[in-house]
Amino acid sequence: MATINQNYLKLPGSYLFSEIARRVSAYAQANPDKKLIKLGIGDVTRPLAPAVTQAMHKAVDEMATGEGFHGYGPEQGYEFLRQAIAQHDYAARGVDIAPDEIFVSDGAKSDCGNIGDIFGVDNVVAVCDPVYPVYVDTNAMAGRAGDYDGESQHWSKLVYMPCTAENGFSPAIPQEKVDLIYLCFPNNPTGAVASREQLERWVAYANANDAVILYDSAYEAFITQPDIPHTIFEIPGAKTCAIEFRSFSKTAGFTGTRCAYTVVPKELVRGGASLNSLWNRRQCTKFNGVPYVVQRGAEAVYSPEGQAQVKETIAYYQRNAQVIREGLTRAGLTVSGGVNAAYIWVKTPEGMGSWEFFDLLLEQANVVTTPGAGFGPSGEGYIRVTAFGDQQATQEAVARIVSVLG
Ligand code: PLP
Repeated sequence: MATINQNYLKLPGSYLFSEIARRVSAYAQANPDKKLIKLGIGDVTRPLAPAVTQAMHKAVDEMATGEGFHGYGPEQGYEFLRQAIAQHDYAARGVDIAPDEIFVSDGAKSDCGNIGDIFGVDNVVAVCDPVYPVYVDTNAMAGRAGDYDGESQHWSKLVYMPCTAENGFSPAIPQEKVDLIYLCFPNNPTGAVASREQLERWVAYANANDAVILYDSAYEAFITQPDIPHTIFEIPGAKTCAIEFRSFSKTAGFTGTRCAYTVVPKELVRGGASLNSLWNRRQCTKFNGVPYVVQRGAEAVYSPEGQAQVKETIAYYQRNAQVIREGLTRAGLTVSGGVNAAYIWVKTPEGMGSWEFFDLLLEQANVVTTPGAGFGPSGEGYIRVTAFGDQQATQEAVARIVSVLG
């Protein structure tokens, strides 16, 4: 008899977005005349940059010719894209990352999940609370998380690092020894960033304990403050203890186009094995590369026109973030994030629960948000608002919230 991976049976249902969808659809059905504005899900809304679509059109035309046709590409990504990434995302910031330390993929979500393949099941894993659920669920699937307790909403073997207003939404280094540490800055869902000093402490901890930091900087493009590191590899010593995940999804609107990359430094060795070699082996075995057309599109993000265009789009979302921050502050709410991030983390008023405040905004302002409790117990008492929406709709949503709470 075929047996199954029992760990899958331990996973709680993907409650958050299905429950949001259920409440939204029930409300919309009962109130067909109301126009809802969605500031919930973290998908982008602006079109791809013209430089990107031009490069993709050109690549499609190449594919229609005998000489320009591309079949299977290198599993690690084409050299032209790995070179461009090494140059623009690292060398330009004074960081030396070689193209063969960069693995192009179809998404940071897949990479954050798949990276577990190269680590043993006995590693102690630390995650933030609240957290991007992919880190938790993929470790649970691999049998690294133990058992789920519905009451505490915690897995028995994971080490949770609360991110609260008291610590500025930046986790403290755990008391117990941990082996794999997921960090995400700028953070989803809180919008917090890590300072250089904070990252230096993590790197020192990881090197001293032979731990590995899994650093997700999918939202790096939203950093505005000059002293905030864009990559963990700006921190001396990070190359012996960190893996970094990046994505074109939020940087350049590739959520539907799919392109990302992971950096595994060659200096990173655990148990005598090079993690770069292990990841290379994993990718070559289980992954067949990102389409040529998409990689040409990603390369165009780094052209002068591409850079100007994607920066304009990011500025568009950043203006939304400012409108949300200022408006909700005017409405008497306490907000954080949204300065170096497209997420605004909003404290619910008068001790309301996340879902209670979500319902109030849905029913009275007809605005859809995301309850913070869905990202972990420390998210209770917060909602997440995203700046990825249409400008006018965002302004309208904020005006409605101000009038409901004012
Ligand atoms: N990492 C974080 C923290 C995210 O919030 C997301 C998407 O929402 C991703 C990774 C996924 O990125 P990708 O679209 O490259 O799979």
